[in-house]
Amino acid sequence: MTASTENSPSDFIRDIIAEDIRRGKYKQIRTRFPPEPNGYLHIGHAKSICLNFGIAREFGGICNVRMDDTNPTKEEAEYVQSIMTDVRWLVDSWADNHIGGAPLYASDYFEQFYEYAVDLVRTGKAYVCDMTPEETDAYRRLGKASCFRDRSVEENLDLFARMKAGEFLDGARTLRAKIDVNAANVWLRDPVLYRIRHASHHRTGEKWCIYPMYDWAHTLSDYIEGITHSICTLEFEVHRPLYDWILDALEFPEPRPHQYEFARLNLTYSVISKRKLIQLVDEKLVSGWDDPRMVTISGLRRRGVTPGVLRTFAYNIGITKYPSMTDMALLEHTMRDEFNRIATRRLAVLRPIKIVLTNYPEGKTEELDAINNPEDSDAGMRRIPFSRDLYIERDDFMETPPPKYFRLQPGGEVRLKYAYIIKCDEVVKDEKGNISELRCTVDLDSKSGGPTAGRKVKGTIHWVSASHAIDAEVRLYDRLFTVPEPDASGDFKSFINPHSLEVVSAKCEPALAAARPEERYQFERLGYFALDPDSSREKQVWNRTVTLRDTWAKEAKK
Ligand code: ATP
Ligand code: MG
Repeated sequence: MTASTENSPSDFIRDIIAEDIRRGKYKQIRTRFPPEPNGYLHIGHAKSICLNFGIAREFGGICNVRMDDTNPTKEEAEYVQSIMTDVRWLVDSWADNHIGGAPLYASDYFEQFYEYAVDLVRTGKAYVCDMTPEETDAYRRLGKASCFRDRSVEENLDLFARMKAGEFLDGARTLRAKIDVNAANVWLRDPVLYRIRHASHHRTGEKWCIYPMYDWAHTLSDYIEGITHSICTLEFEVHRPLYDWILDALEFPEPRPHQYEFARLNLTYSVISKRKLIQLVDEKLVSGWDDPRMVTISGLRRRGVTPGVLRTFAYNIGITKYPSMTDMALLEHTMRDEFNRIATRRLAVLRPIKIVLTNYPEGKTEELDAINNPEDSDAGMRRIPFSRDLYIERDDFMETPPPKYFRLQPGGEVRLKYAYIIKCDEVVKDEKGNISELRCTVDLDSKSGGPTAGRKVKGTIHWVSASHAIDAEVRLYDRLFTVPEPDASGDFKSFINPHSLEVVSAKCEPALAAARPEERYQFERLGYFALDPDSSREKQVWNRTVTLRDTWAKEAKK
């Protein structure tokens, strides 16, 4: 039964499913991912997708993607599109043969929802109530019965049909389940099942003016689709008795769906809820839903995060019943782990400073061997050009360095990665006093295989040959917020990290001209990078996905 070849996760939900299978309760496991198309998916949704598709995959089942599009005014077709793009990207070649076909829509079941509601009215388990939404809320809080509760079945049937026919104004009437006005669980206090809303729906247009409430639509959608395990986040635990009441009231036979709840993902240094992500987009605090600083799936993808990273992350955080906060460092660690294995190594200089090797012949170019990926012997070698004029990182030189500074300094030596040892002889400055170039001498015997190749110097730095380098824009992304819990500390927008994006003009080794968007690169000593879709044939744009080391951990200790 188990299809999983990699590590197979285990948690309380998978234990329940394994037991249900052992007992022969269901012929096939069916889960679903039910987003409301009112925003782009975020990393919390990724957790839910990995769980629901992971289960379908491990137990030979199917996972439906269902648009929970029961709210006529809030949903847009753009969101449906983006949701499917994100889901497919995440499950492609992993669980794509477990997807239950095209996306399903709760709105496709409106007719069935209505018929089931009529059944409920007919058996005296629902009634039309004329109280306003405010009165209804107040009565439910107080545990008081509506004075419309004991209407006859005939009157209820007539009024409900007329609600559907559009005879009444928005808010004038509702259909309510007749359960228990004083139940300890407020969700059972005669909850509203239908409300009147004269609004156009993105798929059903003007056809309906009554719309089902979440519990009614969600439970019935699960039943109609033959869902076996309906998995949602903890907030819905209190809805479960209503979920079961609906299935009971309609006398649906077993096997029928059961609801299970798990703790949602919360991530430090970020906001996850769609409502807040929308504010960042609408108030132009980020460049859009796919801004690489956003923890949306599209933002993470653009930043360079791979589906494999998100799946490993989801696997590592696991599924529990206890609300908790996951450290952003764990997501970043997962990226580094994966990219260290797969990324192609390249040399790039983000903030260049010019070096002239005074004892190296003008016009000469050498090709030096460099390793593409030390973690992957199949990745092979490449050749990088070396010449008299080079760029190194501005940070790798200090005119008056502190003790223990092992990079380049006046009179000091350093090794150029894959190349020679050089010594800085002279610092040349322009009229404003800024360093314009460093004049150095190169020890031509110190190259790999040379007589002084084994000579030890303390520092090794990266470089590119000036005349061979290609120019690129590099976007250095960092965490979007400066505090671990921007949500908990007041207005989250006041904690936006002003240094979360820095754009630099970099010099890159020529091999990067052939870079591919789907490949991941390590710019040596700097971090992991991916091509941005803004790249053109004339100009590459790179996004830093993550730095090589966790600079925030040091910050936190201070
Ligand atoms: P938000 O609170 O961000 O608006 P939502 O729950 O309203 O999210 P839906 O589109 O209704 O968003 O969610 C679709 C599915 O994703 C649901 O099953 C929901 O439980 C799950 N989900 C949403 N947020 C998270 C999260 N942070 N962690 C895990 N699962 C989540
Ligand atoms: Mg929701």
